[in-house]
Amino acid sequence: MQKTLQAPELRAQVATVLIAAGSSPDEAQCVATNLVLANLSGHDSHGVGMLPRYVEAVLEGGLKPNSSVRVVLDTGSLLTLDGQRGYGQVVGEQAMALGMARAKTHGSCIMSLANAHHLGRIGHFAEMAVAQGLVSLHFVNVLSRPVVAPFGGADGRYGTNPCCIGIPLAGREPFVLDFATSQVAQGKMRVAHNEGRQVEPGLLIDEHGLPTTKPGVVVVPQSGGLFGALLAFGGHKGYGMAVACELLGGALTGSGTAHQPADPAVRAVVNGMLTILIDPSQLGTQASFEQEALAFVDWLKAAPAAPGVDAVLIAGEPERATRLQRQETGIVVDGQTWQDMRAAGRQVGVDLPE
Ligand code: NAD
Repeated sequence: MQKTLQAPELRAQVATVLIAAGSSPDEAQCVATNLVLANLSGHDSHGVGMLPRYVEAVLEGGLKPNSSVRVVLDTGSLLTLDGQRGYGQVVGEQAMALGMARAKTHGSCIMSLANAHHLGRIGHFAEMAVAQGLVSLHFVNVLSRPVVAPFGGADGRYGTNPCCIGIPLAGREPFVLDFATSQVAQGKMRVAHNEGRQVEPGLLIDEHGLPTTKPGVVVVPQSGGLFGALLAFGGHKGYGMAVACELLGGALTGSGTAHQPADPAVRAVVNGMLTILIDPSQLGTQASFEQEALAFVDWLKAAPAAPGVDAVLIAGEPERATRLQRQETGIVVDGQTWQDMRAAGRQVGVDLPE
C-alpha cells in the first residue's frame, strides 16, 4: 500500500538508514535532504527510492560513505577532482563549492569530477550555482548497466547521461533545464514497473530490439537473461548529445566510459561530470544579458497557450510548482518502493515503520 509522508519525516527515516549503513550524521542529513528534495521536485526516480540501491552499493563496497573530493589538479580556473566513490550528493556539493568559488574569482571555471557515486538530480547543482548568480552547464555520464540503445541500435550501450543548464534571470526564478538524454530516466521505468503501469509507446525496446510499452524490460531480466533498452530522446540529436555527455563526463574527466557489458551483480552507479561555470558579471555583458534574457522569457510566456495547456513554462518552473504542492500535501511513496526501503533498512538493522 502506498504511503504519504511529510518531507521532514521522510528525511528522518532515510537518514536513520544511511547512518546505520555507515554515514556520519552530517552525511546522512545531506543525502536524505537531497533525495527528499528530488521527490518534492516531482522527480521520484531520483528520490528516496534510490535508498535500497545505495545500501546495496555500500554493502558491496562500491559506494564509500564519508568520502570527500580529492583535488587532482588545480590551475585556478581549471579544477580536476576525484569523488573517490563517495555519495554523489556529498562530493557533488563539495565539488560545486570549489568550482563556484573559482568562477567568482576568475570569471569562469571548468571543473571535472570523476568517480562520484550517483549524483542524483543534476539540477540540484545548477540550482546551487544560479543561487550565486552563476551560469552552469553540466555534462554527465553514468557507469552502471548500459541501458540506452544508440540511435539505430538494438541493445543498451550507455547510460541515461543527463545534461543540465542553469541560467540566472535577474530578479526572477532561474531557468534550470535538467534532463536525461534517454526518452525518460531509468528510475521512472522502475517507478512505473513497481506501480504495475505500462508506459507510452516510443520509449523502450525489448530484449529483441522491438518496441514495447512494458517498463519491466529495463528493470528485470527478460528471456535469456537479457534486458531491453531505453531509446534516446529526439532520435539522432538526443543520441548525439548523450555521446557528448559520455565523452565529456566520462572520458574528459578521467571517470571512464561505458565499453563493456556491466556485471549485473554490481550495484554501484558511478557518475562523471564536466561542469562549466561562468560569472556573467565578469563577462562584460551583464546589463544586456539581464535585459535580453528577461525580454526573451517574457516574449515566450506571452505566447498563447495551445489547446489543453494552461500556460507556456520555462524549465525549472514545473519543479518549483511541484515543490510548493508536495510541501503541503506530502510525498506519496508507492507500496513496492516503501517495502524495498524497509528491506534495505533491515539489511543494516533498522526497522522502518510498516
Ligand atoms: P524530465 O523529462 O521530467 O525533464 C525535466 C526538464 O524539463 C526540467 O528541466 C523541467 O523543468 C523541464 N520541463 C518539464 N516540463 C516542462 C514544460 N511544460 N515546459 C518547459 N519545461 C519543462 O526529466 P528526466 O529526463 O526524466 O530527468 C529527471 C532527473 O533525472 C533529472 O533531474 C536528471 O538530472 C536526473 N538524472 C540523473 C542521472 C544520474 O545518473 N545522476 C541520470 C539520468 C537522469
